[in-house]
Amino acid sequence: MTNSFKKVNGITGMKDILPDSSYQWNELEAILRAWTAQYGYLNIRTPILEQTRLFSRGIGEVTDIVEKEMYSFTDSLNGDQLTMRPEFTAGVVRSAIEHNLLYQRPQRLYTMGPVFRHERPQRGRYRQFHQISVEALGFSGPDIDAELIVMADRLWKQLGLSNIRLELNTLGQYDERKAHRSALIEYLEKNANVLDEDSKRRMYTNPLRVLDTKNPDLQDMADNAPVLFDFLGSESKDHFAEVCNRLEDAGISYSLNPRLVRGLDYYNLTVFEWVTDSLGAQGTVCGGGRYDDLFSLLGGKDSPAAGFAIGLERLLDLWTQSNTIKESSECHIYIIHQGEGAQRRAAVLAESLRDDGYRVVVHSGPTGFRAQFRRADSSGATIALIIGDEELAQSAVSIKWLRQTADDNSQQQLIPMGQLAEFLKSKGVAAWHMT
Ligand code: ATP
Ligand code: MG
Repeated sequence: MTNSFKKVNGITGMKDILPDSSYQWNELEAILRAWTAQYGYLNIRTPILEQTRLFSRGIGEVTDIVEKEMYSFTDSLNGDQLTMRPEFTAGVVRSAIEHNLLYQRPQRLYTMGPVFRHERPQRGRYRQFHQISVEALGFSGPDIDAELIVMADRLWKQLGLSNIRLELNTLGQYDERKAHRSALIEYLEKNANVLDEDSKRRMYTNPLRVLDTKNPDLQDMADNAPVLFDFLGSESKDHFAEVCNRLEDAGISYSLNPRLVRGLDYYNLTVFEWVTDSLGAQGTVCGGGRYDDLFSLLGGKDSPAAGFAIGLERLLDLWTQSNTIKESSECHIYIIHQGEGAQRRAAVLAESLRDDGYRVVVHSGPTGFRAQFRRADSSGATIALIIGDEELAQSAVSIKWLRQTADDNSQQQLIPMGQLAEFLKSKGVAAWHMT
């Protein structure tokens, strides 16, 4: 074939996860599954594509995500407006409503996978990235808000992360935010001369979001704005106090950040973020809070809920900064062969070793012994099995240890085929390899 086609590249901001790091992802995902299980969370998996209006309604029209970060398109077959999920919560709640999941009892759910946002790619900020999203649906008490935070804290400890801290705030309830909103708009109007374009545009549609600005020139203005907490009634304040009490019970310290509003509109009462200084500009590893209004916003029966999402690229970055994750090898056993019939014998032998649970690779490619041993060595296998003319004639295999072991196994040994399984077991090949 002529080489006349132009190379096709991947999409900016959407990374391939190659074998040189996928083992870290697998390890991290296994830890995350075990961790969610410890708190009784069950897995739910929703589609990547949803109706666009799920997000514009759920996340809110006047948010960074809905205004400029969504991958949306029209389905050319039927004209539906579709969006690749920019986060999980709206889809999980949609699914809970659609399948009546809260009919009999509340649900603790988690989901994990890729999400999509059209942002400017940089370290810790991609266009396809991964989240684990943990959602407690149908629970109203502050015990759950605290449990979610404690749960995240356990994960940081489990992963050996120390440089990560908790920021906490409460957004109260809708009516309380409304009273604060009027005061805030008045304040923003007075400060209109310092506002940037984004802020001016949002001042009347979503003034709270103006305080979420990342523009350094606006920090002073935001710092001095009316504080929502002063507008909260006693119920909201009690809920928050109870969350704080429980964090103190758990020995988790936090800082109150009255400007923490989160990038999504559906939150009420408790909101929190876990942040670190070890990841450069993109320091938020985890964000979440209570979202009691989302069910009714999406047309479901009013149900309280709370949850959080962790950005897995940022978590992995943080984790691998301070931990070396053991790379898994291709196989335990690499089979080398030479001569007529040896390759077929090797393939049959490999199948019987796989029956015993070993990971086995049969050499394929250059036939020279040297080249084969080189491949065997780089495969990370514990042993090479060799089948040549002599072995074939004697119905045996030669075994060569590729890694230093406690025993003196340095010599190549000839083992009758019928005794191989016993021999490997006695040497604990797989077990030794896994340590
Ligand atoms: P940021 O302020 O960094 O944009 P966010 O408030 O938009 O974050 P959330 O919507 O709360 O983020 O998403 C939860 C987590 O997902 C974040 O805390 C972060 O760890 C991660 N995250 C968000 N956007 C990206 C992205 N573009 N690339 C990689 N990770 C991301
Ligand atoms: Mg964002």
